[in-house]
Amino acid sequence: MTSDHADNLWRQSHRADTDVPALSGDIQTDLLVIGGGFTGCSAALEAAQSGADVILLEARTIGHGGSGRNVGLVNAGLWLPPDEITKKIGQTAGMRLIDALAVGPDLVFRLVQEHGIDCDATRNGTLHLAHSASGLRSLQSRFRQGNRTGAPLQLLDAEETVRRTGSRAFHGALFDPRAGTVQPLAYCRGLAQAARDAGAKLFENSGVEAIAHDGALWTAQVHGHRVRAKHLILATNAYADGISGAPTREFVPVHFSQFATAPLTQEQLRDILPGGEGCWDTDLVMSSLRIDREGRLIIGGVGNVAGLGAAIHRKWADRKLAQFYPELAGTPFRHAWSGAIAMTSDHLPKVLSFGPNALSIFGYSGRGIGPGTVFGKRAARALLFGEDSGLPVQISERYSEGLKAPRAAYYELGAVMSHAIRPILKKS
Ligand SMILES: Cc1cc2nc3c(=O)[nH]c(=O)nc-3n(C[C@H](O)[C@H](O)[C@H](O)COP(=O)(O)OP(=O)(O)OC[C@H]3O[C@@H](n4cnc5c(N)ncnc54)[C@H](O)[C@@H]3O)c2cc1C
Repeated sequence: MTSDHADNLWRQSHRADTDVPALSGDIQTDLLVIGGGFTGCSAALEAAQSGADVILLEARTIGHGGSGRNVGLVNAGLWLPPDEITKKIGQTAGMRLIDALAVGPDLVFRLVQEHGIDCDATRNGTLHLAHSASGLRSLQSRFRQGNRTGAPLQLLDAEETVRRTGSRAFHGALFDPRAGTVQPLAYCRGLAQAARDAGAKLFENSGVEAIAHDGALWTAQVHGHRVRAKHLILATNAYADGISGAPTREFVPVHFSQFATAPLTQEQLRDILPGGEGCWDTDLVMSSLRIDREGRLIIGGVGNVAGLGAAIHRKWADRKLAQFYPELAGTPFRHAWSGAIAMTSDHLPKVLSFGPNALSIFGYSGRGIGPGTVFGKRAARALLFGEDSGLPVQISERYSEGLKAPRAAYYELGAVMSHAIRPILKKS
C-alpha cells in the first residue's frame, strides 16, 4: 500500500472515462475556465449549455485536486452551522448563502440524472454523528438552527443511531435527508464529459503558466500556446499552481486523509450503515465514515497520510475502525490517500474579482461537491449574463489571509498530536 495519489481508491474504482487531449495550438473563446474540478467543470457545463464558446484547461487530469480525493458527501450547506454564518456576514448575506447551498444536492443529483453520470449517486441522506455528550448538544443546537432556516433535519437518539450505523460509538445523530453520496472522481469526470457533450473544449495536461489582460481580452500562456478569452474563471482552489499574473493563494491548505478496507463480506456488512448514508462526526479533529459501492468501509480524518505524520495517522485509522466496529478490529486498509482543503479563516467561500470579467472562486473550507457545482454554475452566469446577484456570496474586490504557512502547520500538528496523544490520555 502506498500513500500517494495513485493509491486513491476513487482513481481505481471509477469506470466511464474518455481521452482528453492536451492543448496543441492557439485558440480564442468567450470563456476560459482554469481548473478541472467541480467548480470549473460545472462552470464549463453551464456556459456551454447557454451557447457560449468555452475552453477548460486542466494542469493534470480532470479531478486531480480536491474533487477527485474527497469523501463524497453531497451536503446541503457548509460545515458551519447557520447561526455562525449569519453572525459572520449578516442575516441577509447569510441567508443568501444558506439558501443557495441548501439546493446544492438537488442540483448535483439532477445533473447526475440528466447526463447519465455513472458515479454511484445515492441520495439516502447523511448522518452527522455525536462523538460525545457535548457533540450531541452541538447537534441539538444545529437541529434548532436548521429548523429555523427550513432544513428538514431529524435528530436521532442513541438507539436509532446504533440501528442506522451498526456502531455503538455514538451518542446520537443529525440526519439530513436532502444529502447523499457520490463517487466523487466519477461525478467530476462525468460533469466534464457533460460539458464536452454540450460543446465545451476541454484540455488536460495543459497547465496555465501566466495570464494577462491587454485591455480587450485575457491571454493565458500554456506550454508555448496562447488562449485568448473575454471572460475568465480561475477555479484552481487548494491545488492552485503559481500562475504569473493571477491572484496569490489566499487560503490555508489543510489535509484530510482516507483509509479504505477491501470489500467486506455480506455478513460483515449486515448491520453497518444499512441505509447507505455518508457520515462525519462532531469531534474537533473530525472523522468521516462511509461505504462505497463494492462494500469497502472508508474512514477519514484530518491529517496528511502522505506527510511526516503518516505512521501516526495510519495507526489512528486502525484504532478508529476498532472503536467504531470492534468486530472489524485488525481488518487491514488497502488504500490510503490524502487531499488538501482550501480553508479560509471565516470558513466561508470567496468569489474574488481580479480584473475585467475575471473571477476566482476558492475557500469552500471542506464542503465543495454541492457548493462547487453551485458556485461554478452561477459564476459562469454572472460573467456571461451579468447575473452577479445569483452568486451565493457577494463578489470581493480583494481578499487576504494572514500567517498561512504557520496556520497550515498548526492544523497538521494538531491532527498528529490529537491522533497520537488522545488514546494515551484516554488510557490514563
Ligand atoms: C480529503 C477531502 C475530503 C473532502 N470531503 C468532502 C466531502 O465529503 N464533501 C464535500 O462537499 N466536499 C469535500 N471536500 C471539499 C471538496 O473536495 C473541494 O471543496 C472541491 O473538490 C473543490 O473543487 P474545485 O473545483 O474548486 O477545486 P479542485 O477540485 O481542487 O480543482 C482544482 C483544479 O485546478 C487544477 N489546476 C491548478 N493549477 C492549475 C493551472 N495552473 N492550470 C490549469 N489547472 C490548474 C488542479 O490540477 C485541480 O484539478 C473534501 C476535500 C478533501 C481534500
